[in-house]
Amino acid sequence: MERTLLVLKPDATMRRGVGAAVFERIFEALPDVTPLGFVERGVPKALAEQHYAIHKGKFFYPWLIQFIRVGKVVATILEGDNIVKRLRNVLGATFVEKAEPDSLRGKYGLVGGVNVAHASDEPDNAEKEIALWTRRTSLDIRSEGRGPLMAYIEKWRGTPIKATKQIREYCGEYAKLYSNRTLYKDLIAEQLIEECPDWPMRKIRSLADALLGNMDLDKQKA
Ligand code: ADP
Ligand code: MG
Repeated sequence: MERTLLVLKPDATMRRGVGAAVFERIFEALPDVTPLGFVERGVPKALAEQHYAIHKGKFFYPWLIQFIRVGKVVATILEGDNIVKRLRNVLGATFVEKAEPDSLRGKYGLVGGVNVAHASDEPDNAEKEIALWTRRTSLDIRSEGRGPLMAYIEKWRGTPIKATKQIREYCGEYAKLYSNRTLYKDLIAEQLIEECPDWPMRKIRSLADALLGNMDLDKQKA
């Protein structure tokens, strides 16, 4: 039986309704899956760097390490037939704009690489990532994950998800001229408040900053 590592990124954990919707959809689309372990926690720099070691040196690496550490993540292990590929299909393509509209990234992703979740890309890497996360965190392959995930869905479903479109528009506007950064950060943070009910403004602003930071990467490339 195959296993994969699923890590909800801060855009999905802070937007609580998105986190709940993501797990709901996964259970719906992959009813045979067995979740093993559950952890909600911040990602220390060393873990972030090990997890994303394969991207070290790439232009987006510093941004990525910063983004994954903006808020807590939720990590779980999913077990099932061919689960690595099937989970990646439900998640959708890497970039929000390229992801199929009804995939999780296409539906809930905010912009570019601010894309809801990490899922291992092949079985060998999945086992390496699972080894890393179970060594470095309390994620425990021997404990059942369905209960905690159901409780998570129960707790947060119903939290409004209504700002996706507006935030995407703000990001697009910002990237036309790359000016008024502070203004766009404020506008985006304001949209996020209702979606992130238990997060302090400081964190919400860091998330908004990570969105604009992702846009800034495209400017550097252009
Ligand atoms: P995936 O998460 O689909 O496996 P990768 O492993 O290629 O994608 O990249 C890891 C993460 O790094 C992506 O999910 C995304 O958040 C970010 N990322 C990758 N490429 C870029 C890029 N060109 N610009 C911004 N962010 C990127
Ligand atoms: Mg990857």
